[in-house]
Amino acid sequence: MSDVILRIALPSPLRRLFDYKATPRMLQQPLTPGMRVRVPFGRREMIGVLVQVVDHTDVPADKLKPASALLDDTSPLPPAFFRLCLWTAQYYQHSLGDTFSWALPNLLRQGEAAEARQERFWHAAPGASLEDPRIARAPRQREALQTLAQHPHGVAHSLLSKLKLNKDSLDLLLAKALVQVEVRSHGPARRHEHWLAQPELALNEEQQAAFDAVRSGFGAFHPFLLAGVTGSGKTEVYLQLIRETLEAGKQALVLIPEINLGPQTLARFEQRFNARIALLHSAVNDRDRLDAWLAARDGEADIIIGTRSALFTPMKHPGLIIIDEEHDGSYKQQEGLRYHARDLAVVRAHQEQVPIVLGSATPSLESLHNAHTGRYGLLRMQHRAGGAKQPRLLRLDVRSLPLDGGISGPLQQAIRQTLEAGQQVLVFLNRRGFAPTLLCHDCGWLSGCPRCDARMTVHQRSAMLRCHHCGYEERLPHQCPQCDHVDLRPVGAGTERAEDRLKVLFPDFPVLRVDRDSTARKDAMQALFGTVQRGQPCILVGTQMLAKGHHFPRVTLVAVLNADGGLFSGDFRASEHMAQLILQVAGRAGRAEEPGKVIIQTHLAEHPLLVQLTEQGYFAFADQAMSERRAAGLPPFSHLALLRAEAHKPEQAEGFLDQACAGAEAWLAEFPQPGIELLGPVPAPMERRAGRFRAQLLVQASSRAALHRLLSGWLVQIEQLPSGRQVRWSLDVDPVDLH
Ligand code: ADP
Ligand code: ZN
Ligand code: ZN
Repeated sequence: MSDVILRIALPSPLRRLFDYKATPRMLQQPLTPGMRVRVPFGRREMIGVLVQVVDHTDVPADKLKPASALLDDTSPLPPAFFRLCLWTAQYYQHSLGDTFSWALPNLLRQGEAAEARQERFWHAAPGASLEDPRIARAPRQREALQTLAQHPHGVAHSLLSKLKLNKDSLDLLLAKALVQVEVRSHGPARRHEHWLAQPELALNEEQQAAFDAVRSGFGAFHPFLLAGVTGSGKTEVYLQLIRETLEAGKQALVLIPEINLGPQTLARFEQRFNARIALLHSAVNDRDRLDAWLAARDGEADIIIGTRSALFTPMKHPGLIIIDEEHDGSYKQQEGLRYHARDLAVVRAHQEQVPIVLGSATPSLESLHNAHTGRYGLLRMQHRAGGAKQPRLLRLDVRSLPLDGGISGPLQQAIRQTLEAGQQVLVFLNRRGFAPTLLCHDCGWLSGCPRCDARMTVHQRSAMLRCHHCGYEERLPHQCPQCDHVDLRPVGAGTERAEDRLKVLFPDFPVLRVDRDSTARKDAMQALFGTVQRGQPCILVGTQMLAKGHHFPRVTLVAVLNADGGLFSGDFRASEHMAQLILQVAGRAGRAEEPGKVIIQTHLAEHPLLVQLTEQGYFAFADQAMSERRAAGLPPFSHLALLRAEAHKPEQAEGFLDQACAGAEAWLAEFPQPGIELLGPVPAPMERRAGRFRAQLLVQASSRAALHRLLSGWLVQIEQLPSGRQVRWSLDVDPVDLH
């Protein structure tokens, strides 16, 4: 009898499948792709996903091991999910097994049963009456029955104490058949008929046009870029499209950036709908995540809302995908499987034949390019829905002005005027800590990180020097570690320093700092916003945490302390990110009656990109940035892949990349491809980081297909390079940053 061979994807970096023999017992049931299998691997066991069943293997008979156990009777992975993972692994040149690991809920890859958690639910029995004579003299039982009667979907056993329900009373009621117990999974049991829990707003003309366009694309793959200024009412358009989706009996998937996960955003969805909403983000625990995943897969969740990895949530009846703030950097995963959730979402929408809406006030140049070339429908909304005016953007040339805690004289004046008019000010500075560097005024010593080619930031509140790249920290020194003198000075300004100066300059007004350090404590952010919502004049100072998702209607002045980093950085995307950030911060201001003003301090007041942005707006900026990209042959006019390597010695990383580069050249000599260039290897812009030396090799291609042909031939070779054992290497397809 010939063997039945299971080809299994294992969570290993190796880009191949692993063959195992099926045991006779496993053959008693149909074996289908997607079933999880436990197998011996080296000295331990691993859980993998069955990909293929074949009758032949190249593994010699004495090496072929039997699989240990099948974990599923049927595949827990729907075919659409399977297909998306296959596509992802191929496109990002990543091991299929590891792709499954990233895409699946933790508990599934650890072998947990693919079943929703069951719980006991207590219900009032149909016809049970509070007037029942058997409980006339049992006030606690009456009370319990009354509480249950108020919960038509039943009360989960785990919530009894929260509702002050006494188990003994319930048992007595159960004995009298006045209550019933049902065992089922969590979440409301049935779909609602009336989806709206709250009336909808009447869409304005721009919103209606956008809505109609997407609505007419229902039932098939239609990608749209919804480019609407902040406050133009994009969320209202999403909500109404979701309602249409629910009415059609379908499910909607909404991706939001990690930083937008404020209660404000979620509350808008929860308040609007009588619907079962599955949440999938980093704060959701493993068990709840699995339940949400299963509910979505089985059509028991109507709306799925989550961050990046929620893209992989299967849906039984997919109807619509929405990517909010599509330009946001958090959609790109920067470790392991380096996927871009926005790009994969478009692929998924195509595979599942549903419309997809990419929404943003500041679309990525990639998405704009796709709109310009006709791949995406472009929907624009240029007016704020509430009638508020767009803020004015002003450049403030600080070339010859002294900066006090990062703040120039004219800016101080503008802040004073705003506060005295009873309004609020937002000061934006994308740098945490007190100052980016500590300098010895005697000998010139600088606070370099011992593990990185970078400076450690001065954190005055905690009296520490901290490296923002590797996390290394040490006590803030009192005297110079090099010359022992005590004249140490912080150079430049971070949010702590700006806060200190603002407190001195404006002692009569509250100054509230918002950054990762100030909001580490839970609820601090909420308390802070409470203060701001009350509307008294105050100053908010902070990092990009301020820029997203929150509305500050009483803010009429936004000050951007330093925008220049984005204009002379070596990273070709820096200016795009800077423009997006400025507009996102600007979008917080003046949402109601008062028009807002944005003052941008800069040493590069005549820089064409900054001039375009402030005088003509984001689309003009994007045109200008786009022509620069075209001239330089950079994305979206070319396609990139970045091979990174890091090692304990610099020559190891570069040596590996030299060999990889030679391999690519040899492959290209054999299979010539048009328009491919290999750039490097070169040391990374920050060569040493966390004690390792880093180098990179960039592949630039004019054709996506040619790039992928090279990658699939090349990666097989790279995996076999002996020098690869001494380095950590990774391939990043469509890298977002080149560091
Ligand atoms: P965006 O998502 O584009 O930033 P929002 O959907 O948050 O915009 O809308 C901004 C504000 O305008 C919100 O307070 C919202 O309630 C209000 N709004 C949106 N659409 C309308 C409308 N059609 N009529 C009146 N107000 C609206
Ligand atoms: Zn010194
Ligand atoms: Zn460091």
